[in-house]
Amino acid sequence: MTCCLWPALPAFAQRSQAAKRATKARAVSGEPAALTPAMRIVMGHIKADALRGHVSFLASDLLEGRDTPSRGLDIAGEYIASQFRRYGLEPAGDQEYFQGVMFGPEDGNPAKSRNVIGILRGSDPTLKDQYVMLSSHYDHVGVVKEPKEGATDIIFNGANDDASGTASVLEIAYALSSLHPRPRRSEIFILFCCEEKGLVGSRWYAEHPAAPIVKTVAHLNLEQLGRTDATEGVKLATLNLTGFDFSSVTQALAGAGKLTEVKVLKDEKGSDAYFNRSDNGPLARLGIPAHTASVAYGFPDYHEAGDEWQKLDYENMAKVDHALGVAILHLANTAAPPKWNEAYAPAAQYVEAYKKLHAE
Ligand SMILES: [Zn+2]
Repeated sequence: MTCCLWPALPAFAQRSQAAKRATKARAVSGEPAALTPAMRIVMGHIKADALRGHVSFLASDLLEGRDTPSRGLDIAGEYIASQFRRYGLEPAGDQEYFQGVMFGPEDGNPAKSRNVIGILRGSDPTLKDQYVMLSSHYDHVGVVKEPKEGATDIIFNGANDDASGTASVLEIAYALSSLHPRPRRSEIFILFCCEEKGLVGSRWYAEHPAAPIVKTVAHLNLEQLGRTDATEGVKLATLNLTGFDFSSVTQALAGAGKLTEVKVLKDEKGSDAYFNRSDNGPLARLGIPAHTASVAYGFPDYHEAGDEWQKLDYENMAKVDHALGVAILHLANTAAPPKWNEAYAPAAQYVEAYKKLHAE
């Protein structure tokens, strides 16, 4: 694994006390004040038709619901890697873009799957050694094992869950890689496998990071961005963020939302309850300010054969991806990285993890 070989850790640990105090005194990342020319370029590169193209392939019947492990999931992984090559991302797995992930019983026969990881190297001589992470999971739950009599569709396509997040990571990676100069910090783009098996891919990454965890300053994970027909009503030009009050990543995304006409909302029931239930959880527990952004939590066809690519709203998806792309660019370029909210009691364990990570 590349993680054990990174030489940057000791140098970071030896940073002088004075430098530490200076970093503390600076303001947290806060909101982007206005759209920069680079932000406009990012928005111009994220298109509804491109998102439709990615999702319609990833959620096609031939990939048979991308179960872990399966040939369909392997093909999806190859597709993602081919896009990373197109954007010129640095391979950051142990086999080019692929990071081998073992899962299942340790004493039995563990199965093997793959995370897909690419890095866009930052342009700032100092900040390029810090990382902003963007992720989603590209697996789903496969086919119905025991179809009911008369069932005609047995493939759980997982278009919204989570080909929509996967396509969004791809388009945002494409948009950011088109910038000259590149963003100041480096970006890690990860498509996790095995999420549906219990966050196995992200938990594996947390233990086998492609870049130092201590230098990973923020993480946004994307889930269910395509369906606007939420159980509780239509969701247009809005994003939910889990752990809404937990860190200043919320201000970065809310500010990006204001500039792109997307409202970033606190879901009173889901915000804190879902914080640990998605792929941001394993990274947050290590101390990285990490959240999951979604359009709708509950939607018709959730984990059903009806989660098909034709039912997604790609215009709305492009709109919320503009906000997410602008937020990632802001987090990559702003001087001070985000901070956990020490005043919010439910975030206490993450504040502690951050302090332990940075040995404050
Ligand atoms: Zn999901």
